[in-house]
Amino acid sequence: MRIDVLTLFPEMFESPLSHSILRRAQEKGLVEFFLTNIRDFAAQGNYRRVDDKPYGGGPGMVLMPEPVFNCFEHVQKQSDVKGRVVLLSPQGKKFDHEKAVELSREQRLTFIAGRYEGFDERIRVGLGAEQLSIGDYVLSGGELAAMVIIDAVVRLQEGVLGDEDSACDDSFSNGLLEYPHYTRPEIFRGMKVPEILLSGDHGKIAEWRKAQAIKRTRENRPDLLEDKNF
Ligand code: SAM
Repeated sequence: MRIDVLTLFPEMFESPLSHSILRRAQEKGLVEFFLTNIRDFAAQGNYRRVDDKPYGGGPGMVLMPEPVFNCFEHVQKQSDVKGRVVLLSPQGKKFDHEKAVELSREQRLTFIAGRYEGFDERIRVGLGAEQLSIGDYVLSGGELAAMVIIDAVVRLQEGVLGDEDSACDDSFSNGLLEYPHYTRPEIFRGMKVPEILLSGDHGKIAEWRKAQAIKRTRENRPDLLEDKNF
């Protein structure tokens, strides 16, 4: 998978991309990241300006179409695969596990991170990009949202997670939140590991975990159980 990010702050990605699972995915050759600074595609002079005041008045500045289009066209030429183009926006459809699975099947993803008051509307329309939001709140920029989506998508790529941290029981993968986990010691500050987990009876353990997953989903996210027969 090739992942391009168009951003005004490429250096924000350095740390998240160089640790843990995202780093290993690159080392294994399963994903490649390309960070491109939108400002490099702004007109020369005038401090390589990328934003301007909104027509019609109002607060803040708006990302101009020209540098974003120039940057996007340059980046798209780097590979024959067009892939999917995602504009990060609080106005987009809400990103979730299902969308992560869908995006993980693509060969190429291009993310465009906004700043200021957001994008000139012609960027969304002209680039045919889908808008994705990571939640009902407003961030200062699309970089953190892009990182969240990239992390969730890359860990679903085949071969990225080893068996030891496989995603198959993770929350949402089967429509439920995951069951509770315990590790050593057996008793910690008076709190005991449930007896069943020490029993060695794998059938009983699986039943217990399923019941716990349903219970926790009912308590914390009853919306996930609508239309389900648990
Ligand atoms: N004025 C815009 C609005 O109300 O819809 C918000 C602009 S926000 C300050 C600047 C940029 O941060 C956006 O263009 C977008 O790229 C990113 N952003 C903010 N909140 C986001 C969210 N919940 N999900 C994804 N991206 C977000």
